[in-house]
Amino acid sequence: MNGQNKIELLGMSQSELEDFVTSISEPKFRARQLYKWIYQKQTASFYEMSDLPRDLRYKLDEVAQISLPRFLKQRVSRDGTRKFLLEMNDKKRVETVIIPQTHDKNTQYTVCISSQVGCPVGCAFCATGAGGFQRNLQAYEIVGQVLSSRRELAKRLKRNDTELITNVVYMGMGEPLLNYDEMIKSVYMLNEHKGINIGQRHITISTAGEVTGIKKLLQEDLQVTLAISLHACDNELRNELVPLNKKYPLEILLAAVREYAEKSNRRVTFEYVLLDEVNTRKKDAEAMIKLLKPILANVNLIPYNEVSGLNFKRPASNRINQFYQWLTAGGLNVTLREERGTDIEAACGQLAAKKDRQM
Ligand code: SF4
Repeated sequence: MNGQNKIELLGMSQSELEDFVTSISEPKFRARQLYKWIYQKQTASFYEMSDLPRDLRYKLDEVAQISLPRFLKQRVSRDGTRKFLLEMNDKKRVETVIIPQTHDKNTQYTVCISSQVGCPVGCAFCATGAGGFQRNLQAYEIVGQVLSSRRELAKRLKRNDTELITNVVYMGMGEPLLNYDEMIKSVYMLNEHKGINIGQRHITISTAGEVTGIKKLLQEDLQVTLAISLHACDNELRNELVPLNKKYPLEILLAAVREYAEKSNRRVTFEYVLLDEVNTRKKDAEAMIKLLKPILANVNLIPYNEVSGLNFKRPASNRINQFYQWLTAGGLNVTLREERGTDIEAACGQLAAKKDRQM
């Protein structure tokens, strides 16, 4: 049996694994063992599953596979942020960013994962968008990024605690809500307490404003954080920067967001990339205050990280501070995002994973 005919176990729930082991005439409890090896110990090889009988390991290897994305290489930033290049079974590549946070001398990590290979939205300032769209990722490939990242990180740090990764943000390559079914399946898998066990409140789904997806997400009744990539507060400018705005203009997007904030009683985060002389004028600040003040919102300002070949500039720091002050004076809850991983092109909008590019 070649690899293509093998049954993929990554992405299966424990009850799906029970059906699988029963189908190969094995007792149900083997599913529990497999589940643990896959989701708690991120093991891709049956031969490493030391509590399975040797014959069973051979048998499993003949009929099944666990396709954790293959780690190719990493870059490490001065600030400790890492960027991993991962490869899927069909050789498609995505980048995953791992960001450390230290509290009381204990460092834990947030993983920024991709939901698509490339992105169809085509935001004007984004390296991923400039590279075009290749395909959606399957749920097991999305979850696999967290598992492969945890495995690589644990190996490098010589730590094997399952709580090494505590937060997951869907802010890598792609528009998660345009890959809704696989994305939401992956959220439930990440949250499964017997498995990877990332709390719902530690998961953030970021969208450029795919309103149909926001409405579907609302029906799930989850406690995940919704983040909106806003970047402009009038339709004319937003149409240019985030072309999805032509389909869902600001008034429609904001109505959906308000509904989400009210029903979930969760603050919605608005990401706003600061582009010099494009969206950082006083009138942009005034428009944002008018738009967001009535909403339970946090605003994250992200100074632009320049991408070669794209014609946008990062504002000088006095302009950045001025913009921040206009917003806070207007009563908004604003954070100026700490710069992470800019020296390794791991920052927002810089992920590309081009085949020919040296990471
Ligand atoms: S910013 Fe996000 S939504 Fe826009 S093109 Fe880049 S990856 Fe896609």
